[in-house]
Amino acid sequence: MRVMAQLAMVMNLDKCIGCHTCSVTCKQAWTNRAGTEYVWFNNVETRPGQGYPRQYQDQEKWKGGWILDRKGRLSLKSGSRMKRLLNIFANPDLPTVSDYYDPWSYDYDNLLSSPQIDTVPVARPKSLITGQDTKVTWGANWDDDLGSGPEQVGKDPMLAKLSDKVKLEFEETFMFYLPRICEHCLNPSCAAACPSGAIYKRSEDGIVLVDQDKCRGWRQCVSACPYKKIYFNHKTGKAEKCTFCYPRIEVGMPTVCSETCVGRLRYIGVMLYDADAVQEAASVTDDKDLYPSQLGVFLNPHDPRVIAEAEQAGISTEWIQAAQDSPVYKLIVDYQIALPLHPEYRTMPMVWYVPPLSPVVDVLSETGHDGEDHSNLFGAIDALRIPVEYLAELFTAGEIGPVRAALQRLAGMRSFMRSVNLGQEPDMSIPESV
Ligand code: SF4
Ligand code: SF4
Repeated sequence: MRVMAQLAMVMNLDKCIGCHTCSVTCKQAWTNRAGTEYVWFNNVETRPGQGYPRQYQDQEKWKGGWILDRKGRLSLKSGSRMKRLLNIFANPDLPTVSDYYDPWSYDYDNLLSSPQIDTVPVARPKSLITGQDTKVTWGANWDDDLGSGPEQVGKDPMLAKLSDKVKLEFEETFMFYLPRICEHCLNPSCAAACPSGAIYKRSEDGIVLVDQDKCRGWRQCVSACPYKKIYFNHKTGKAEKCTFCYPRIEVGMPTVCSETCVGRLRYIGVMLYDADAVQEAASVTDDKDLYPSQLGVFLNPHDPRVIAEAEQAGISTEWIQAAQDSPVYKLIVDYQIALPLHPEYRTMPMVWYVPPLSPVVDVLSETGHDGEDHSNLFGAIDALRIPVEYLAELFTAGEIGPVRAALQRLAGMRSFMRSVNLGQEPDMSIPESV
């Protein structure tokens, strides 16, 4: 056992309203300058949808991340050694600015100060990169207006996988928001892909950073990151990424996105993990074992043996205490209601999500409150507006069981709290359907 400490974030998706306060405050703090106009270290994407950059989940298209070669060994990208060496120089698997979408603004000055005219003024969008008029063809949350109907099926690869299992009629469309930052992976493929050794993972807290002095602008990290959460600054010629607001963390403050989140849905905490178990867990070949293998690397911070090993590894008393008090540990390990995003990418992401319970839509509840009638609650999980299968494609490599279990726990908690708030005796029985 080799004990290390890692900062992690859990986001409760039922609470996200897609307001983008997190994105904007992050941009003001970190990417409000030339060369990073198109960059959102924090973005909030519509699901189902294409994401940011568009189609980033299509690993066949980008040939990114960790994949297994024919002998089942972990490797970065496929192909012969020569092809991989050549790829370092060619690196064709990069998103273009239209995949991120051309950032635009308007000539507000002209709009407000133009002389009185008979016709309505027309504001033409101007590219923030070129300053020229631009034709806007895509933007953040464009998918909101498209809904999850049949038109979207081919565009969201996760939805396309389900098209024969989940029938999407007009009345059955669904939508939710997925805020994303860099995952500060336990097994970061951005760092493994960097020919200059410029990307490193801090041993004290697991934050993944780019050394700007060492970066030579190869952009291998951009194609290697399966989440597409590392960006190329076209002015400085260097890669940049979310820093987990380390200057704030170092003085005991939360990240900007967490502090400003309107929904108060982001939890930050410390996890202790077994560094020896990471590679093994990332190499699991059976998809159904991916989520349990990721869960298996976390160590119980209350276990005296773990505490002794952590002290020996130089982890401070404050951090061990923080791991013991961590809301993130409770949500991920104790309650098992937080799940990783795309464990099949094998980078061991450290931003986890409480899946959205949303309203249960076809439960005949006498109270009229959908899904809050205790007797119907657990059997109704499969009747959620958001198909459990879709959530499983996002969070557990298609395995339904852990997602259903997380939703059942959330439903139980919602039922319990509803009774408490109404001053009623909570029904503590476990329905037969569980
Ligand atoms: Fe690197 Fe991408 Fe993982 Fe962030 S999400 S640590 S950029 S591989
Ligand atoms: Fe969602 Fe919070 Fe960001 Fe608003 S600030 S979009 S609620 S994560």
